[in-house]
Amino acid sequence: MEVIKTIEAMKGFSFQARRAGKTIAFVPTMGFFHEGHLSLMREGRRRGDLLIVSLFVNPTQFAPHEDLKNYPRDFERDCKMAEEVGTDILFAPEVDEMYPSDHQTHVQVEKVTQNLCGRSRPTHFRGVTTVVMMLFELVTPHVTIFGEKDYQQLVTIRQMVRDLHMSVEVVGMPTVREADGLAMSSRNTYLLPEERKAARSLYRSLQRARELLQTGEQRASRILDEMNGILRSERLIRTDYVQICDAATLQDVDRVEGGVVVALAAYLGKTRLIDNLVYRKL
Ligand code: AMP
Repeated sequence: MEVIKTIEAMKGFSFQARRAGKTIAFVPTMGFFHEGHLSLMREGRRRGDLLIVSLFVNPTQFAPHEDLKNYPRDFERDCKMAEEVGTDILFAPEVDEMYPSDHQTHVQVEKVTQNLCGRSRPTHFRGVTTVVMMLFELVTPHVTIFGEKDYQQLVTIRQMVRDLHMSVEVVGMPTVREADGLAMSSRNTYLLPEERKAARSLYRSLQRARELLQTGEQRASRILDEMNGILRSERLIRTDYVQICDAATLQDVDRVEGGVVVALAAYLGKTRLIDNLVYRKL
């Protein structure tokens, strides 16, 4: 595996790779890898002649009061893990090169970014789409792999790719979980032992939603009431939102008729975690 740190070297590599007729698979990340990241990389390895992983803690997707400064980092460990799953290039650019001081262009996907996380993080998705657009330009991937764990992000990236007629295939991968169901996240390392225990209720509430949906419950309010009951019984959980939305538009639904995403965000202490369940009736 080669580590590339400059934009010029990254562009040079992808230009040559394309010229040699290679298929480029790309996994963008913010590092501090866990099995969720690795599952995306393995899928990329399978789909491309070359696997490029980016590691960039993107400042523009963090609001000033958020955890940019404390975001967990371990470059040496990440290098080892990426190499073990067959990454060819780890692209780890510097913030100053990605965002020189006169940077002033952003990419904004309008509708699907408004609800859910967009309510409490109004500038977040603009930061995500801006950096992903830049990374696509530098890496020129044929295929890119994102996790369903960040479902709204996946929908937003798909929308951007469609709207801007970009030539990259976007693949979504299922959420990888800990043994007790907690969705893997780099942010789980922030959790104190008691908070980590309480966090199990996030997945429990989603499992309850799945049970209700599978037994034919269609009323969103009924499902949300039960989920909120489970979350409220855990005093360390402070819910940001629990919503049931159309899986494509991310607008709230009152009745579950087509495909939906049951999505939640909650604070455990200062740590904000998200999780979701995508449900499509058979
Ligand atoms: P991050 O480093 O948190 O920005 O995540 C990089 C990519 O990994 C994104 O596409 C995430 O959706 C994906 N990802 C994060 N956690 C998981 C997980 N538990 N399972 C599957 N994919 C994940």
